[in-house]
Amino acid sequence: MKIGIPKEIKNNENRVGMTPAGVHELVSHGHTVYVQHTAGEGSGFADELYVKAGAEILPAIEDVYAKSDMIVKVKEPIEPEYALIREGQVVFTYFHFACDRPLTDAMLKSGAICIAYETVQKADRSLPLLAPMSEVAGRMAAQNGAYYLQKTKGGKGKLMAGVPGVKPAKVLVLGGGTVGEAAARIAAGMGADVTITDISIPRLRQLAIELPANVHTLYSSVHSIKNELSTVDVVIGSVLVPGDKTPKLITKDMLSLMEPGTVLVDVAIDQGGCFETSHPTTHSDPVYTIDGIVHYAVANIPGAVPNTSTTALTNATLSYAVALADKGWKKAVTDDPALAKGVNMVGGKVTFEAVARVWNLPY
Ligand code: NAD
Repeated sequence: MKIGIPKEIKNNENRVGMTPAGVHELVSHGHTVYVQHTAGEGSGFADELYVKAGAEILPAIEDVYAKSDMIVKVKEPIEPEYALIREGQVVFTYFHFACDRPLTDAMLKSGAICIAYETVQKADRSLPLLAPMSEVAGRMAAQNGAYYLQKTKGGKGKLMAGVPGVKPAKVLVLGGGTVGEAAARIAAGMGADVTITDISIPRLRQLAIELPANVHTLYSSVHSIKNELSTVDVVIGSVLVPGDKTPKLITKDMLSLMEPGTVLVDVAIDQGGCFETSHPTTHSDPVYTIDGIVHYAVANIPGAVPNTSTTALTNATLSYAVALADKGWKKAVTDDPALAKGVNMVGGKVTFEAVARVWNLPY
C-alpha cells in the first residue's frame, strides 16, 4: 500500500503522524511511505531520518495526498485539506466529528474512509489511541501546576516539594482516570501532598494500591471537594463522562473558597472543562486569572512536547496502521473489533452512531 504522512498545518501543531521508526516498520512490510518535506521537523525528526528509514520525501502536501492510498496524521483535516481527500482513500487520524459539523460534511462529501483514533476501543472499553495523549497531558498538568504556583507566574509562591521544616504544596486531582493518575504520580514525585478523587470506588481502590504513599484517595462529591478547597494550592481537573458533558465540579462561587494564587489546571477543557470559569487557552497565552485564581486551560497540552507525543502516538497507532496497510481496511476492521469501532465514515455515509446522532444524519 502507498501511505502518506503529511505535515500538520493546524496552528501551532508540531506533532506528525509517524516517527521514522514507524516508517521503517511499514517499509519492512513492503509498503511505500511518502513523507512531506519537513513534516517531522517540529517533533525533532529531520527528513534525512525518514529517508534512512526508507521513506520517499515529497515536496508538497498535494503530492502526499494525491499519491497515497492511506493518510496517517495527527489532527483532524482542516479546510485547506478537505479538497485533497478523495473517494476511497483511508484517513487514519483524530477526527472528533461530534464537535465539528463542517469537517463532518466535508468528509462525507469526500467519500473517504475515516478511521478516528479517538473511537478505537477495546473490549474492556479502554481507548488505546487516546491513552498516550492523556498520559502526556496528565504529566504536563502537574508540571504546569508547579510552574504557575510560582509568585512570578501569578501563583501563591509555593514550592511543590516544600523543604525540610516547610510543608509541601497540596494538589487536588479531580478524576482518577489516565490523566488523573499520571498527574497524581508526577505531583507526588515532586514531593507534593496529593489527593485524588473519583466516583468509582473500584478505581479509587486500585489507585490507593498503585500510587505512592503521599497520594490519598477521596470519593468525589460536592461536599468533599468543597472541604479541600480552603487548603489546596493546585487543582487538576481530569474528569470525563464518556458521551456526556463534563460536570462543572468547581463553580464560580467556589473560587472564593480558595486562597488567591491557587492554580486550576483544567485538562478536561477539550470536553468543555470541569471548572465553570474555564475557557480554552493556547500555548502562546496559556493562563488567565479570575478572582485571584490562576486558570490554565490549554486544549492541546501534548502539543508542547511534540517529540515525546509523536513517539507515544506512533507507538500506539503503528500496529493498527500496519494491519490497515497489510490487509486493506475492510479485512483489518473485520479481524479487529477494536479497530472497527474507529470507522466513523465510509464512502459518504456515517458509520458511527454517536456522530450520526449529534448531527442528525442517517446511520
Ligand atoms: P478517563 O476516562 O481515563 O478518566 C476520567 C475519570 O473521571 C474516570 O475515572 C471517571 O470515573 C472520573 N469521573 C467521572 N465523573 C467524575 C466526578 N464527578 N468526580 C470525579 N471523577 C469523575 O479519561 P482521561 O483519559 O483521563 O481524560 C480526562 C480528560 O482529559 C478528558 O476530558 C480528555 O479529553 C482530557 N484530555 C485533555 C487533553 C488536553 O490537552 N487538554 C489531553 C488529553 C486528555
